[in-house]
Amino acid sequence: MRKLLLSLPAGYVLPSVLSSCETQDDLFPNLSFGGKVIVVGAGAAGLHAAYILHKNGVDVQVLEATNRVGGRIKALDEFTGYPLELGADHVRGVNSVFYDAVRISNFEYYQDRGKTYYQLTGKIIEESEANSNTSFRAASKVIEKLPLYSGPDISLSDYLDKEPLSDESLTLLNSFIANEFGTDLDLLSVAGYNEALAKRTSGNEKIILRRRSFSEVLDIQYSPISSKIRQNTPIKSIDYSSGKVVLTDDANQTYEADKVIVTVPLPILKEGRISFSPALPEEKLLAMDGIGMDASVKIFMRFGQNFWGDETSTVYPGGIIPEYRAPGWGKRSEFDDDLIFFNNVLVGEANGSAGATLSELGNDAVAYALRDLDEMFNGQATKFLTQSYVMDWSKDTFTKGAYSYPKVGSEGAREILASAIDNKIYFAGEATHNEGHFGTVHGAMETGYRAAYEILKSIS
Ligand SMILES: Cc1cc2nc3c(=O)[nH]c(=O)nc-3n(C[C@H](O)[C@H](O)[C@H](O)COP(=O)(O)OP(=O)(O)OC[C@H]3O[C@@H](n4cnc5c(N)ncnc54)[C@H](O)[C@@H]3O)c2cc1C
Repeated sequence: MRKLLLSLPAGYVLPSVLSSCETQDDLFPNLSFGGKVIVVGAGAAGLHAAYILHKNGVDVQVLEATNRVGGRIKALDEFTGYPLELGADHVRGVNSVFYDAVRISNFEYYQDRGKTYYQLTGKIIEESEANSNTSFRAASKVIEKLPLYSGPDISLSDYLDKEPLSDESLTLLNSFIANEFGTDLDLLSVAGYNEALAKRTSGNEKIILRRRSFSEVLDIQYSPISSKIRQNTPIKSIDYSSGKVVLTDDANQTYEADKVIVTVPLPILKEGRISFSPALPEEKLLAMDGIGMDASVKIFMRFGQNFWGDETSTVYPGGIIPEYRAPGWGKRSEFDDDLIFFNNVLVGEANGSAGATLSELGNDAVAYALRDLDEMFNGQATKFLTQSYVMDWSKDTFTKGAYSYPKVGSEGAREILASAIDNKIYFAGEATHNEGHFGTVHGAMETGYRAAYEILKSIS
């Protein structure tokens, strides 16, 4: 939706220069702390927290459940000529710490300025044509008007009930807003949506790597702490009832620390997969209930022929899958002819109930996507499909969904979720971001920074 909702400026290929954009990482130069901090989870939040603590001379260890780092940043190699992003696939805005990390990596990147197509009145039409379509115009108007709403908090679908909207407009709004926020129109809070939009400061650019993956960016950014990360260590309990905090993994090995930062995804906390002793305060449990995180499925399809158009980067269909993107758009370089075959992949992304439906289908979800695409492109999808891959984040044992979104009446929940307990247990991770950047990589990194800062302040 990005184009509609965020009104992106004209795209451009950004210069890939090494900048001196080191943030103020050395916050407390004279710190002397003999204790230890353990960070649970090696996603963007955990890595960034550990990095900041390490930079400030703190003894830190990261305990990660899986056999890799990155969490919801994960690459699919060897599917096509460049790595595909199974999770986060673009940097949201250049005014962000993640964009800084990309620049420091010195990898080539560019901004999405491909064409967007819409399936409206049974036809595939381009943005310029869509602007004269009644349903499209009505959806655009809603997006313009929505931030002006100041009544009691309601869901997006309750808000839209008051508008005379066609099914096509509602489908567009589901793609543009609900799917973008990882959920459905009837679950997303209007107040939460408006607050996020008002608070976001990272910018509207959509930055994509040309030939490398975001995992490689993390490898570079966090190389100073690589030896501090212990993988294959799922933590099942955290006991902070006495002086030291004792963590136990699923093989019953224990780890001791003075302070702990918990960065696991929201569903892992909600499901009680880590037991806390003493139990987490009631208000924290209630806060978790106010924040949602729904299913998410990405379907990757490689084709023998590009039938969607070499200049197309996004297609909004009328079916269950809200959005298809062409990750190969922009990969081609006029200086590098061998890149010409790269634009041969389409990715369907469905969050919320559409994601749940696809999740139930498993690998049969591909057939669903092919039906969609065949209808739009005269049967060419099935004809030209050569390979497919389904990434189901809802079934990923240590993630269990897409990213967090505000439910109706959830004001203040993220602040409570983020608050530390007894100066010992700190919380980070995208769901704890209270300034609108939840559901993003840079938001996760910012929460890692915040939690590290809280600890540094408490020991300085
Ligand atoms: C499909 C999809 C598309 C997205 N697209 C974008 C995008 O384009 N741009 C963007 O900015 N953001 C995007 N996001 C969101 C972004 O990926 C996340 O907000 C961010 O990566 C979350 O980082 P995190 O550190 O909070 O959590 P995670 O990355 O989930 O890290 C948490 C870590 O904790 C570990 N863990 C869990 N349980 C335990 C345990 N018991 N013990 C030890 N470790 C544990 C996990 O294995 C994981 O490594 C997308 C996400 C998804 C799923």
